[in-house]
Formats: sequence, C-alpha cells, structure tokens
Amino acid sequence: MAERIEWLADGTPYSPRFGDRYRSELGGLAQSREVFLRGCGLPGAWAHQPQWRILETGFGLGLNFLVTWQAWKADPARPRLLHLVSTEAFPASADDILRAAAAHPELIPLAQQLQAQFWGLLPGVHRLVFEEGRVLLSLCIGDTKAMLREQHFQADAVYLDGFSPAKNPDMWALHTLKAVARCCRRGTRIASWTIARAVLDNLTQCGFVVHKTPGLPPKRDNLQGVFGPRWEPRKAQTFTTVNPTSCVVIGGGLAGAAAAASLARRGWQVEVLDSHAAPAGGASGLPAGVLVPHVSPDDSLLSRLTRCGVRATLQQAEALLQAGEDWQACGVLERRLDGSAGLAADWPEAGRDWSDIADPSKLALAGLVATDGPACWHTRGGWIKPARLVQALLAQSGLRWRGGIAASRLQRNPETGHWQVLDAQGKGLAQAAMVVLAAGHASRLLVGGDLPLQAIRGQMSWALHADTAGAAAFPPFVVNGSGSFIPAVPTDGGMAWLAGASFQRDEESTETRSGDQAANLQRLQTLLPATALTLAPDFKSGSVRAWAGARCASPDRLPLVGAVDEAQQPGLWLSTAMGSRGLSFAILCGELLAARLHGEPLPVEQRLAQALSASRFLRRAPA
Ligand SMILES: Cc1cc2nc3c(=O)[nH]c(=O)nc-3n(C[C@H](O)[C@H](O)[C@H](O)COP(=O)(O)OP(=O)(O)OC[C@H]3O[C@@H](n4cnc5c(N)ncnc54)[C@H](O)[C@@H]3O)c2cc1C
Repeated sequence: MAERIEWLADGTPYSPRFGDRYRSELGGLAQSREVFLRGCGLPGAWAHQPQWRILETGFGLGLNFLVTWQAWKADPARPRLLHLVSTEAFPASADDILRAAAAHPELIPLAQQLQAQFWGLLPGVHRLVFEEGRVLLSLCIGDTKAMLREQHFQADAVYLDGFSPAKNPDMWALHTLKAVARCCRRGTRIASWTIARAVLDNLTQCGFVVHKTPGLPPKRDNLQGVFGPRWEPRKAQTFTTVNPTSCVVIGGGLAGAAAAASLARRGWQVEVLDSHAAPAGGASGLPAGVLVPHVSPDDSLLSRLTRCGVRATLQQAEALLQAGEDWQACGVLERRLDGSAGLAADWPEAGRDWSDIADPSKLALAGLVATDGPACWHTRGGWIKPARLVQALLAQSGLRWRGGIAASRLQRNPETGHWQVLDAQGKGLAQAAMVVLAAGHASRLLVGGDLPLQAIRGQMSWALHADTAGAAAFPPFVVNGSGSFIPAVPTDGGMAWLAGASFQRDEESTETRSGDQAANLQRLQTLLPATALTLAPDFKSGSVRAWAGARCASPDRLPLVGAVDEAQQPGLWLSTAMGSRGLSFAILCGELLAARLHGEPLPVEQRLAQALSASRFLRRAPA
C-alpha cells in the first residue's frame, strides 16, 4: 500500500504516521531552493562538471528532486549527468506525487514525468530515468541506513531531509548519519533545515564540519556543512575517476549497443565493431522476444534483477521506439506448469504493479480455466523487437558503427595503455583506451582467459496471420511458461505470430531445423492447447517459418558485467552472457557497466550488482 497522506486545509501534505507536515510552513518550493540547493552551493558548484551526485535522505513527495531537476534544466553550465539517490521507507502514491506539485505550476510537467515512472516500488533500488538518461533518480526503498549500505558511490552534495528529529529520530541517529558519511568524499557539501543539537553533534562525530546559517523568515537558522574529517577516510571510500576518451565495443547486438549508448551518453567516443554487416546480426536479430520479470516465492536475486532490467528496457523502449510497432507492453500470462504459485503468499501491494495471480478472466482469454493450473499475470510485460532497439541505441551521438569487421585478438600496448583490436592475420582493426566485449559466445576467445561461456542454440517458429486460419481467436497478450507464444507482432508482410523457442546446449548453428519446428509445436500444445490445435495443420504442412540464433550463457545464467581483471588487463571490460533474458538484462547491464566505470550510483543494489561481476568466474593461478 502506498503511504497514506492527509492534505491540510491550506493544501499542505501531512503524514499521519509521523504526525508531521511534509514541508515547512514556508512552502516546499522556497525550502527546497533555499535550504537544499543554495545550502549545497547549487547550481554554481556543479557548473561544467561531468556529473553531479546528490544523496538525499527522505524522498517524501519528491519536491527536492523536482526543484533540483528544474535548476539543472535551466542551467547552461549544467553537468552532463545529474544523479539523485534518495531513500524512502514509505513511498507515497504516484497520484500524491503529482498532487504535491500542483501548487507549483512550473514543476507540473516534471512531476507528471515522475508520476508516470512512480510505480512498482518494492523494497530495493529503483532507477528512474529522465532527460534521455541524463537525469537519473535512484529511489532506495527501505530503511535509510540499510539502503545506503547497498550503495557504492561518492556524493558531491547531501540533502538531509525527512520528518523532524523529534518525530522520526532514527533518520537523524548516529548510525544513519554514519551511513551517509560513508557515501561522502572530502568536500561533499551537506544541508538541512534542522539545527537540532543532537543532529549537529552526530554530524560532527561523523566528520562533517557544520555551521548554522540564517534561515528564511520566520525560521531563524538552517544547517550547512562540509565533509572534512580530521582522520583519513578508509581506503574502501576512495574511488578512481575515469575521463571519457575512446572505447571500442566488440559486438553490435543488444548488449554491445546498450553499453555503447551508456558510455556515449557520458562523453565517450565509441566505435562498435561487428562481424555482421548490419547491427543485430546475432541473437538480437530475433524477430521479437518476450520482456517479462521472473517471479519466485522468495523473491530471489534473479527476480529482483529481472524487474530492474525490465524497467530499464521499458524506459528505453518508451523513449526510443514506437509502441505497437516495435514493442508493446500488452501484458504476459505466465502459466506455472510446475503447479507453484510463483509469488509469495504475502506479495505486497506495490508488487502487484508488476505481477499478480492471474484472474479467471485472463485465463479465459487464453482458452484456459482454473483447473488448468496456477498462472501469474505480468502487467508490465510484453514483446519487443530487439533489432529495432539496437538500431535506435546505435543512432545516438558519439557512436560509430563499423560492420563486417571480425575481431580475432586483442593486444595491449604497455606504453600507451591502449588496446589494439586485431584480425586473424594480425592486422590492426581499431584501437582505444578501453574495450568492451559484448560478442556473445565469441567473447570467450577474445578475453584470452578462461571464461566459462556456453552457446545455447534456439529456434523460433512464426507465420503471418494472413497465412493462418484462426488467428482471430489468439489470446490478446503474450503467454509463456513452456516456451512462449506472441500472438500479434507487426512485420513488413503483415501481422505475425511467434512461438518458441528450442534450446540446445553447446550448439551455435543458426541453420533452421524441421525437428525444432516439431518441438516448438509440442511446447505450444502444453502451453496453449487450443492455439496449438489451430496451428497444428500449418506446422504439418511446413508453411510455418523459422528463425534460429545462439544465446550465450554463464554457468549461473546471469550476465557478466564489468572489468575482466583491472590488475592484469586494465581497460578490458565485459557485458555479455545475457542467456535467455537479454531483452530484460542488456540495457541494465550497459548502465551498470558505465556506473561502475565512473564511480556513479549503481542502478541496482550493491548485492545484485556483485552477482553480475565479470570476474566472478575468473580462474586465477594458484599463489
Ligand atoms: C531463439 C531465441 C529466442 C530468444 N527469446 C528471447 C526472449 O523471448 N526474451 C529474451 O529476453 N531473450 C531472448 N533470447 C535471448 C536474446 O536474444 C539474447 O540474450 C540477446 O539478444 C543477447 O544479446 P547480445 O548482444 O549479448 O548477443 P548478440 O545479439 O548475439 O550479439 C553479439 C554480436 O557479437 C558479434 N560478434 C561475435 N564475434 C565477433 C567477433 N569476433 N568480432 C566482431 N563481432 C563479433 C556477433 O556478430 C553479434 O552481432 C532468445 C534467443 C534466441 C536464440
């Protein structure tokens, strides 16, 4: 349930939980600008910086974020990237976010964009993306101290907000402020509206040098300060910074295009090399695939990661593609053929924005009844054409596509520190300060080490509705569970359906096989018996077409993202092993790679990011 908010007669939002107002009697806007922006020296302090990272405790109704975003938009000297990482234990509803901004007409267009992304806020980190990926809000839902432990970045400024220390003491307690200090560098500015003695003392103890400044009347004082401990911060708190220069990405599928776009957005000049003449010549050439979160009764790491990934792909699809033509969030019905419900019995309300137990009306639309077994309904799921997304990503500025180039070997020049990409004859193809391998299974050879990647061949079956009797009775959404069925995807030849996919380990062949067509029909008979009955004659007559490709998977079926081995091979990074979920994972992995490289806030919790570490399978020689 979203947090309950009461609205006082003068329009001020009020929290019954804490018995306190969400904003001061001065009005929220004045407080945000005076106390927080000005208190942290903004916008001047961020002028011409490559990025600016603000940490906020207490997101509330998002006013500080909106005001900061507005200041960023208005500033010709704005940083290339603005990050705001904000903690919130009790998120409000999307409607209340908009209502809170209603008193400030200049903020309404921004609040509407925030409202549109303000859904599905389960505990954890949620990355909301604005301004073509240049304004990034990481909402950390949960207790501030615990959530900050899951972050790994250095803030340039800190907004200490939240209900008053008297009403919500935990927010201002020493242990919370220590967690804030852990995210600060020497010189990080801090601002707050409270000058409570205990808060001043706690901040001082954590290494902040704080002072009172005159407040806006009738308030006498505000707090400002800077992180300047008398001791040296622990080594774990030091970060390296990278200046964006040149990068070669090997592989022009979804993983490569996503990494390239994330880097180009941060100022890198990126060349994307691929052995195919055109982008998305590998697995990402799939005519259309399913975009859906994974569910599990214990909300496993995979389930959480796929939600972050689906959100990231949806954001890019909305920004870059045409709905109904290139993608569609039509919903996905997931049959739970093992008989399990998939979701925990206490699955929270916020989770229902994502996934829920399917109701009988959804089953009926798929020609199923309750006795056919349990099923989940994924509201945000749907289908997407990965090649369209690849093309849109590669069209962004700072990127250069070079097709028909097969990389065979990498070599680092110890003098320049640059990587050279060589062909099979040893001829140089490209060179750059950094290389990102996103070449699917071939990344294994290029990395030069022992990378346990597996190729998994797969084949889809598809045909035009015009060539199919009974397409009108197809379910109006995607169905998965035993393979998948996508009922209606526009193609150049007209509307098409797709069913798949086969799964053959350690095979890379992309030839199409009649045996796989038969196997896809068999899958469909389990998944959607009525649809399979309709399509069986087409499969038998051979009029159903086929597309085959090779997935690339790691032993634990999670992607590999990040530096291969910074000590031995500095500047060699990976984003691959997307497995059967590349449409959910690739965009997220591109952002994670760039965030790691630049010491930015991560788009997922630290624990989840670690599970994707590129070096987790690296076999080191015994010492
Ligand atoms: C039949 C099938 C069905 C699928 N269905 C779904 C689905 O429903 N949902 C989902 O999320 N995922 C699905 N997937 C998986 C998804 O397609 C992949 O996870 C995703 O496309 C992987 O993207 P990638 O960029 O890592 O790899 P790829 O798209 O394979 O890109 C790798 C690129 O590297 C290039 N390359 C390789 N070697 C070299 C070299 N030496 N030099 C230069 N370039 C090189 C290749 O040409 C290729 O373009 C499916 C896959 C298959 C095969």
